[in-house]
Amino acid sequence: MNFFRKQISDFERETDGKGKNIFPFSACTWEDIGRNEIVMQKDSAFELQGTGFELFTSQSLGSDETILVGKDLADIKGDISFARVSLIELDENEDEQKAHDIVRKIEYIKYHYFPKGYMIRTNSLSSAENVRVSKKALKDGISFEHIGNMLISKYKENKNVKAVKIFFITDPSVNYGNLQKLAEKNSNVIEALDHVIRDLNLDCDACKLKAICDEVEGMKELHFKNAMK
Ligand code: SF4
Repeated sequence: MNFFRKQISDFERETDGKGKNIFPFSACTWEDIGRNEIVMQKDSAFELQGTGFELFTSQSLGSDETILVGKDLADIKGDISFARVSLIELDENEDEQKAHDIVRKIEYIKYHYFPKGYMIRTNSLSSAENVRVSKKALKDGISFEHIGNMLISKYKENKNVKAVKIFFITDPSVNYGNLQKLAEKNSNVIEALDHVIRDLNLDCDACKLKAICDEVEGMKELHFKNAMK
């Protein structure tokens, strides 16, 4: 699963040289309330406005960690730009169909964790991810470490996930426009994977995915291999 190699190195470049706080994974002590909680405007301390996406690799990531680039929740004073990026190491899988299904399944996890006082609004058609944090949660000590631990636990319920590093980014010097573009590119690569797994049409000149295919190593070969089966 190395179709995301370029996006991973582009992502690393965006956060290179920025101060990072690293929290090794531990069992989550923040409550998951199991359903979407509505945090009303009057109860909200601030909103995180940005993007959230997953990048997959079969190269070793080492140990599970939450990595914070910028301020933690307790130190944020008003609405700010934000990004959540999950680097996920998967088992090396020879069966591309299976690997693709695993990627799709893991992507859905972002809709299925519900930290108390941390209302996540995502959009299945884009990588937008906005979060409203309640005043009560802040008073009770909520932090990105809590959210990261909860999300890592969810990912690791899938036995194909070997390691996870979750980045929360709030540093104003980060280029959020570039991260947004990276998220779009990432979703185009996943869309191309959908296509090469399912569609037998091999007309590259007429294919709207040609630009992605030309860029992502192994994508074209995978489509030809699948179509010839
Ligand atoms: S190999 Fe790539 S460009 Fe050609 S048809 Fe398949 S997805 Fe499209």
